[in-house]
Amino acid sequence: MSVLIVGSTALDSIKTPRAENPRLLGGSASHAAVAASFFGPVNLVGVVGEDFPRRYLALYRRHGIDLTGLQVKPGKTFHWAGEYELNMDHRRTLRTELGVFETFSPDLPAAYRRSPFVLLANIAPKLQAHVLDQMSKPRFVVADTMDLWLNVALDDLLALLKRVDAFVLNESEAQHLTEKDNLFDAARAIHQLGPRYVIIKKGQHGSFLSAPGGLFLAPAYPLRTVVDPTGAGDSFVGGLVGYLASRGGTIEQNLRRAIIYGSVVASFCCQGFGVTRTARVKRADIEQRVREMEKLARF
Ligand code: AMP
Repeated sequence: MSVLIVGSTALDSIKTPRAENPRLLGGSASHAAVAASFFGPVNLVGVVGEDFPRRYLALYRRHGIDLTGLQVKPGKTFHWAGEYELNMDHRRTLRTELGVFETFSPDLPAAYRRSPFVLLANIAPKLQAHVLDQMSKPRFVVADTMDLWLNVALDDLLALLKRVDAFVLNESEAQHLTEKDNLFDAARAIHQLGPRYVIIKKGQHGSFLSAPGGLFLAPAYPLRTVVDPTGAGDSFVGGLVGYLASRGGTIEQNLRRAIIYGSVVASFCCQGFGVTRTARVKRADIEQRVREMEKLARF
């Protein structure tokens, strides 16, 4: 089954203690779409400017990503610049240039409106809601977010949460949103805001799922070296939704395994700048790491 993904399609300039790379293919939707594409068809909704390199469009196409919903507008592509500290756990935003993103309205091609799986990757919650307004009865809707929206668009985010099945956020965002330090308390508070499934990401320490069927604790795939973690969260949720859409059975039956697949795709993302490493992955590489994860966590 197909997955509809909306989010940012960006050019990222990333500085780590070891290297600096300008104008990489980035954005929440780009990372998520490439990650989901390993499992099945993806419909991408986003906007880029006339400066968006053709080779990036070719990369989407190589992954079989449908671009009917990708608007190309006069002006500049959204540009984000960030810098990582030595331990790669902390980063700061150096610049955000909205460009064509400023006036973006995610209008869906008719063929996308029936996509059974919807991933609202990180963009303003109002735009995420606008996508849902146009969908006809999706089977499963997942939303991601970032700290910025908790600060500048909290009411929009709270309205959105009433309409999604699953909400994915990181540890600090969960604590910020609920004002609870304990993550189990935070997850319970988030369920009360609407989502049936709450997934809290803890970076290199893995993630956990709170669901009607109980809790699930997932490790992250252990990496010796992280080259660039930008987009790991987006790859995680993209892989997760892509895997879910590719499986028969209920969400609850597949969600734990989907989290492992998401973690594995995220691990590849961290091993290269932007999507460079993820884009070279083969499905067999993913299966290999999933088997390693199984061995690592079984007792
Ligand atoms: P992550 O590392 O998973 O938090 O995602 C990083 C991606 O988020 C980068 O590729 C950026 O282009 C994108 N990004 C940064 N700021 C924003 C923003 N305000 N809205 C949407 N996407 C953003």
